[in-house]
Amino acid sequence: MSTFHIWTLGCQMNQADSLKLAAGLEGLGYHAVDDDVDADLVVINTCSVRQHAEDRAYSRMGVLRKRRNEGKRFKIAVMGCMVGPKTDDLRKRFPYVDVWARPQEFDGILQVAGDLRDVSGGELGALMGDLDGGAIKMAPGTYGLPKGPTAYVPVIHGCDKFCTYCIVPLRRGREDSRPAADILDEVRFLAAHGVREVTLLGQTVEAYGHDLEPDTTGLYAETGGRPDLATLFEGIDAIEGISRVRFLTSYPKDMTDRIIDAVADQPKVCEHFNIPVQSGSESMLLRMRRGYTVADFEDRVARIRSRMPDAAIVTDVIVGCPGETEAEFADTIALLERTQFDIIHVAAYSPRPGTYAARNLPDDVPAEVKKERLHIVEALHAASSERINQRLLGREVEVLVEQNENGRATGRTRQGQLVHFDVIGAQGRTLGDLVRVEISQATPWSLQGHVAGMLTLSVL
Ligand code: SF4
Repeated sequence: MSTFHIWTLGCQMNQADSLKLAAGLEGLGYHAVDDDVDADLVVINTCSVRQHAEDRAYSRMGVLRKRRNEGKRFKIAVMGCMVGPKTDDLRKRFPYVDVWARPQEFDGILQVAGDLRDVSGGELGALMGDLDGGAIKMAPGTYGLPKGPTAYVPVIHGCDKFCTYCIVPLRRGREDSRPAADILDEVRFLAAHGVREVTLLGQTVEAYGHDLEPDTTGLYAETGGRPDLATLFEGIDAIEGISRVRFLTSYPKDMTDRIIDAVADQPKVCEHFNIPVQSGSESMLLRMRRGYTVADFEDRVARIRSRMPDAAIVTDVIVGCPGETEAEFADTIALLERTQFDIIHVAAYSPRPGTYAARNLPDDVPAEVKKERLHIVEALHAASSERINQRLLGREVEVLVEQNENGRATGRTRQGQLVHFDVIGAQGRTLGDLVRVEISQATPWSLQGHVAGMLTLSVL
């Protein structure tokens, strides 16, 4: 029996890509194994957004090389954002890697996997067609489902924004939306196989549809002939079996009133926004070429909170970008304090080779200053999250059951908070059930409680 192991670094888009590749490998008769020591094919799905993620991939590649040198026979594939249009440097540095694959370009890996098992060219070609564009096609008996009741569904690949520090557009290419009909087919398929919550993915998810050819038959007339993210929400709302829809990552300039209103009005869409602000300083936003002002950002937050006072708003911040002064950092802190985000993901800037910033803006903030700023934002995040979670003490929240072992279950609220809770009797026993949980303990990171009632059963 041939086996594979995929090690995934980075964002949800990478997780979705790994799942699609796993589907393809299973279609070739491979079986997934938990430990790469047991695999005939080891895939590293890389991230290059931060140096730290790249270093982890390099370190794993070193471990695999050692194993090869010890005489173990297996194939190595490296895919994802570390693999650019030219991988010459990487090929020279890691000559023992059998195949390099850019994001969503699975064919080379499937070819190596097919060769290992002597799969016929026709069978391999059909499989590559099934994985076209990174989507599982809806053939009967199709394969590759997520293991639980939640699934990621990429709706738009790539990014057109070219923020100065960011490698994503260089590695994932320009914005490329999937046809709405394909997305809805995929969600129907997932619902029929037990998925209850889908997360629609894009680097800038509200850009969905901008690049599609306009429809001339009157479809999507309200949005100029092209579907938008709100169109997808409406379509998914009508799909039986799906209880919840999430979406990420947001980009303030693409977040229209229509989309915000759709989140407020569509009962299945969770009031949970992931909107990276990156900096609270006007001058820094300009250097980052983020394309919006602090006022633009705060206008979007105000619109969300006016329609959904309980909405969760999560953000990302980068500290120590080229030239960041004390005053600019203070502006960021002031924005974070004004806005009171539910979660703040913070990272210290590291130059990504090939980006505008790496070529033109000196990485001049000392490492210890970056570290200090990082800790200040982390402390702010912990205090803010704890305050928000404490407000839920004694209240009942809606939770979708994602795991259940021996009467102890885990799931998330509509706002994305992680909840651990006791299951009493039959209520909440089945993955995908929607239950009401009364919260009895709150920390900045999670909530604890017990089931207080059922909302929906996860029956097909
Ligand atoms: S919006 Fe900016 S930070 Fe986000 S993926 Fe695009 S280029 Fe990168």
